[in-house]
Amino acid sequence: MMYIDKHHLMQDGHNVDFLPTPNMGGTITPQYLVLHYTAGGSAAGAVSWLTSAQSKASAHLVIGRDGKITQLVPFNRCAWHAGKSRWNGFDNLNELSIGIELVNAGMLTLKNGDWRTPSQTLVADDDVVVAVHKNDTVERGWQKYPEAQVLACAAVARALFAEYPLSEIIGHDDIAPFRKIDPGPAWPMDEFRTLIFGKR
Ligand SMILES: [Zn+2]
Repeated sequence: MMYIDKHHLMQDGHNVDFLPTPNMGGTITPQYLVLHYTAGGSAAGAVSWLTSAQSKASAHLVIGRDGKITQLVPFNRCAWHAGKSRWNGFDNLNELSIGIELVNAGMLTLKNGDWRTPSQTLVADDDVVVAVHKNDTVERGWQKYPEAQVLACAAVARALFAEYPLSEIIGHDDIAPFRKIDPGPAWPMDEFRTLIFGKR
């Protein structure tokens, strides 16, 4: 059971791991939930980067491929995940959104019949989705999101929608379509929205 207490995520009666980052701004009232991928391999690596001052980047949550959740920013504070962005007539979505980073390698390359991440880690064929990104015209390979990660993100989204006046779940590739491709076509956005809102 997940819920929010004082802008922190609670799971089974306890705060989830909270590792505060210096990369945060002032108070916000979030209206959107923005999903990202880390373009990396491990939750520890993502948390380490997003809590280092040099990255000048952060997100409210990092969700590992096993579904483990780490919070970096209270939900009523501005996290630095969206960059230059626009949605629904609003600019700078950082000021209006909760950002979640999903650990995922992102776009893969095929070399001699093997799929590899940008850091050249081999990805098994059954861990790959071949699809055309909605902002692209070419079929490419993308790392799958494990079910445990999707379900953890769904539980988080339900808790966030119960607590905050959120209106939509959107991707970084929706709010910065010429610059960003995450969470990409491997993220099951339609099914995910149905998990949260039901059919509508
Ligand atoms: Zn992103």
